[in-house]
Formats: sequence, C-alpha cells, structure tokens
Amino acid sequence: MNTRTNSELLYTEALEHIVGGVNSPSRSFKAVGGGAPVFMKKAQGAHFWDVDDNKYIDYLAAYGPIVTGHAHPHITKAITEAAANGVLYGTPTELEIKLAKMLKEAIPSMDKVRFVNSGTEAVMTTIRVARAYTKRNKIVKFAGCYHGHSDLVLVAAGSGPSTLGIPDSAGIPTSIAHEVITVPYNDLGGLKEALERWGDDVAAVMVEPIVGNFGMVMPEPGFLEGLCAMTRANGSLVIYDEVITAFRFHYGSTQTYAGLDNHAEIEPDLTALGKIIGGGLPIGAYGGRKHVMEQVAPLGPAYQAGTMAGNPASISAGIACLEVLQGAGVYEEMERLAIDLTAGLQASADRNGIDLTINRIRGAFSTHFCNHPVTNYDHAQDTDGERFASFFRHMLNRGINLAPSKYEAWFLTTAHTDEDIAVTLEAAEASFKAMAQE
Ligand code: PMP
Repeated sequence: MNTRTNSELLYTEALEHIVGGVNSPSRSFKAVGGGAPVFMKKAQGAHFWDVDDNKYIDYLAAYGPIVTGHAHPHITKAITEAAANGVLYGTPTELEIKLAKMLKEAIPSMDKVRFVNSGTEAVMTTIRVARAYTKRNKIVKFAGCYHGHSDLVLVAAGSGPSTLGIPDSAGIPTSIAHEVITVPYNDLGGLKEALERWGDDVAAVMVEPIVGNFGMVMPEPGFLEGLCAMTRANGSLVIYDEVITAFRFHYGSTQTYAGLDNHAEIEPDLTALGKIIGGGLPIGAYGGRKHVMEQVAPLGPAYQAGTMAGNPASISAGIACLEVLQGAGVYEEMERLAIDLTAGLQASADRNGIDLTINRIRGAFSTHFCNHPVTNYDHAQDTDGERFASFFRHMLNRGINLAPSKYEAWFLTTAHTDEDIAVTLEAAEASFKAMAQE
C-alpha cells in the first residue's frame, strides 16, 4: 500500500489556484469517491513515479496518445531536435507535408488534411465543413460517444430519436442543442427514425466507429455499413471521430481495420483525428474527400484557422510516433499482452465472485462491473460504479494507474512487458479478494 501525502498537499494548493485543482475534469477523482488525484512527477516507458516516489504501472496512457510508452527515445529525440530549431513559425513547413502524407497513406478516405490543435477542434470543424457542404444545420450523434467539448457535441439525448437534444453542460443554449439528435449506438432503427423525422436538415451523422468512450465497444455487424448507406441516401455526410481509434488497433484507422468487413462501404466523408498522431504533444487533424475539404478556407467559404496549428514540435512528435508504430509486430505484441492481462483479470474476478465483463479490442480494453454484455451506452451505465471505484482505489494503492472513471479504457503500450502484466495481475487478485469482503 502506498501513501500519497505529498499529492494531498499539492492538491490542497492546486485547489486554491486551478479550478477544481485539475486542468481537465476527467483527472479529478470525483467519479471514484473524491479526494486528491495522484500528482505524477516523472514517466518512463510503462511507468509513472508520483511526488511521494511511489511507482506505478500506467494503463491510462494519457487517455490514449501515449501508445509507445512515456518518453520514447525516438519521439523525445524528434521533439528535442524540433525545439532546437524553433517551436513555432507561423509559416508552412515541409514537416507538415510529411505527416499529412503519412496520414493519407494510412487512411485512404482522407484526400486532403488540415492540422489543428486538439480532437475537440478537429471534430468541431468537421461539423462546420459538413454544414457548409450540405447547407443543412443538424447533426445526428450517438449516445455515450464523446466528441470533445464544443457546444454541438456536448448535447445529451432527448427522450428518443424523434426528439431534439438537451444541453449536457451549462452555457450551451437550447437553440444549439436543438440542432442535435442523439440516438443509441448500434441501433440502426433509431438512426432511421431520426433521419425520417429530421433528415431534410441533417448535415452529418457523427460516430465513433469503434467506441472508446463508454468502454471499448465494437460496432455490431452491419451497423457501420447501414449507417453509411442510410446517411448517404439522405444526402448527409458521414463523419468518423477516430481521435481514439486511429493507429490504436493497427497502423491505420477503423476504416481499414481487419476486424471489420466491407471497408469500401464503411468509408466516411470526413474523419477527425487527434491523440496518437501527435506522439503526446497537442494535435488534432481532420480530413476527407477532396470536394468536401475544398469548402475550407482559403479555398472555400468555411473558415478555420490556428496560430499553433501544425507547429513543428507536435508534427515532429507525430511523425516519430507513427514511425515507431510502423515497426514489425508492434500491434501484435500489444495485443498479446492485452490477451494475457484480460484473461488473468477475468479469471481472478471469477475466482473471487466478482461480476466482470471485459470488452477487448486488440491492445485496448474496458472493465465493466456487471454480468451482462456491454454494446451500448445504456449497458455501460448499468454497471456497478461503486465496485469500479473500489477496484480503482485498491489498484492505485498497489501501484496500478487506471483512469478514474468506469467508462474509460485501459491501454497497452509498446513499453509494457510480461513482468508488468504479472505485477498487475497480482495487484488485481489482491484487489478482488479485498472487494469480495466489502
Ligand atoms: N473525440 C474523441 C473520440 C475523444 O475520445 C476525445 C478526447 N477524449 C475527443 C474527441 C476530444 O479530444 P481533445 O481532448 O484532444 O480535445
């Protein structure tokens, strides 16, 4: 059991100066019973050290971007070299072309690319471009999918696909929420109903093609094919939010992932990217069909700009990260470790009488404390949050760093080893044993 006195002291100080003590609400421990989050001071490979010198095995991977482990030497070198040459120019650079070409080669539906600074910006802009292209206003999204914090996508479901959305955050006008229709993931009937009711004004249907934000959830067979066909028949655009999924399961995106069929039928018109493509530095990108992307300024009437966009540091880190991911067997090795880890976790939970459903997709997985499958947001909500909170704290006390939310995934990185898995499974066995007594 570790003690975290210094984290507690820093949290008290942080609360005085930084709203809520954190720079992103997902970092707070609010969803797992409150208290001080752990203040980390160093990260290397698959490991973290906190300000009390406790060591952790990290499965948070900074919510996804750190796919090659922390401080990977190839990426660190690229960032250092970029910094020595000046971190921000405000002019085009050759590096941007290189990363754009790498993205286009890996994601064939992206004829043209534009770099921005975050996943939020990328998504926000795809919506603007789709609206400009279709000259329509509304978007359809899926319950539980997270697309960043711009107004339009922070909207919850109304009481069904035939109603308009309600704001999910203060500060979002109802008039904006009314531009959004939310339907259940994996529910083509819901999408059909929404398009029948509102279709004339639907600019785009936005989806995480494989979900990463209420656990890892695969599209059911035919879901993406049906979604694309129905959306196109309605004259709307398909937008894939691949901020988590691109380069997570293989070198490419969901659109070419071998775990899904009919690649030609599931290509979107626009794709939003972020996280991994910046190697850990701030980045986002969006792209798609040439005729759609030509809406964007300076070619077209849809305006989008950015002082920091395409900065040499982020772009260099992104190129270096993708170069590491091109290495032979990289994804197979992450998957092998994830198979061992999830098999061990399931066996350990079963042994201790704890209900656990694990959704694994290659090297990423989610742990749901329930005894039913999780294929949509309702299922993910209908899981035992207190059990998760208890598990989270037991694991943290034993040096395993997970996301403090029952909806977030565990990510393997290229830096994890068999030894890390063995240590994690020991911690899990002790955690489940303790939970069985609670
Ligand atoms: N889309 C998805 C699918 C995400 O998971 C996230 C962030 N978790 C975003 C968009 C927003 O990205 P960012 O935090 O970089 O703005």
